[in-house]
Amino acid sequence: MDAMAVQALSSQDECGVLTIDLGALARNYQRLRAMAAPAETTAVVKADAYGLGADIVSKTLYQQGCRTFCVAHFVEAVALRPILPADAAIYVLNGLQPGNEEKARLLRITPVLNSLEQISNWSRTASEAGQPLPAAIQVDTGMCRLGLSDEELRTLIARPSLAANIAISHILSHLASADDADAAQNESQLARMSEVVSLFPGVKSSFANSGGIFLGAAFHNDLARPGIALYGGVPTTSEHEPLSAVVKLEVQVIQTRTVPAGAKVGYGGDFTACTEMRLATISAGYADGLPRSLGNRGAAYFGGTRLPIVGRVSMDSITIDISALPAGTLRLGSYVELIGQHQTLDQIARDAGTISYEILTSLGQRYRRIHKSAPAAPLS
Ligand SMILES: *Cc1c(COP(=O)(O)O)cnc(C)c1O
Repeated sequence: MDAMAVQALSSQDECGVLTIDLGALARNYQRLRAMAAPAETTAVVKADAYGLGADIVSKTLYQQGCRTFCVAHFVEAVALRPILPADAAIYVLNGLQPGNEEKARLLRITPVLNSLEQISNWSRTASEAGQPLPAAIQVDTGMCRLGLSDEELRTLIARPSLAANIAISHILSHLASADDADAAQNESQLARMSEVVSLFPGVKSSFANSGGIFLGAAFHNDLARPGIALYGGVPTTSEHEPLSAVVKLEVQVIQTRTVPAGAKVGYGGDFTACTEMRLATISAGYADGLPRSLGNRGAAYFGGTRLPIVGRVSMDSITIDISALPAGTLRLGSYVELIGQHQTLDQIARDAGTISYEILTSLGQRYRRIHKSAPAAPLS
């Protein structure tokens, strides 16, 4: 058989199907934007848009009116630049490593400057180019991760010439506990942020991630920066209308079997059947982003039926208990749900002892990806 003929044969998905609902993504963007208004709402598309595809996610959100995008690393910004029209701003949250400044200038990539050293490097690039260059300046308001320390901030205020050639677009800071509506840290960071912002009269500011948007208007400033909420993750402990689910994950059954009481299942014989059981082995494992911590804890679903994971999660497969289903319901080629209507992204994350962010960014490249298309025009 020649190559063309082989290609023409429809292939069954050996692993599973990851469905990404771009309409839901668009709805989430519009909802967050309405909540944060009159602030602008950027889209955080770092880590390949949390594993969902920075390319298609960014194009979809551009169509929805988004004109500012944030990535973490410079390489991500370089990859995104040709995908987005010229009027889209791309911010690099982690700032620039020495040596990337000129390329950033030429590609019109905007750094978030996190230290006096980065400010000095960007300022020098601007003066050599003979043009002011835009940047955000991040200030640490209590997370101790990135941004100017109090001492660096004092130095900058005392010597504004350090940023002489920089057109400061925003003073930016990041919340450490925005997902927890009751955390005292939110208020202390807010108080510090107001002090910092008052040192830069007339300059815009940016504070809220997804959780911050739900903390209320005091946190919205001029530019909100949601990531996880765009992708359907639960951003906050506070009561809210659920966001639209963006991701559905279905995995194929590759074998079923009946085992007697006493049978040991999986690596290490970590699960022992206490009665006769029917089992199915499904075709995804920890290499596909289903954490080992789901072993003997998590579940798949079929319809409304919970099918507990038995034994350890393997690299490429997981064994589930299907005894609750009528015999013959699942067979070679059937699909079970790992993320979807019956088990949310946050539920599987909880079972795995992690967060939705880590599940999404770990899903990997072995699933067939289906994009449910978004409306071409902005949703209102
Ligand atoms: C990742 C990130 C965001 C987005 O955070 P979510 O919690 O996903 O909304 C916003 N700002 C900064 C600086 C980030 O690193």
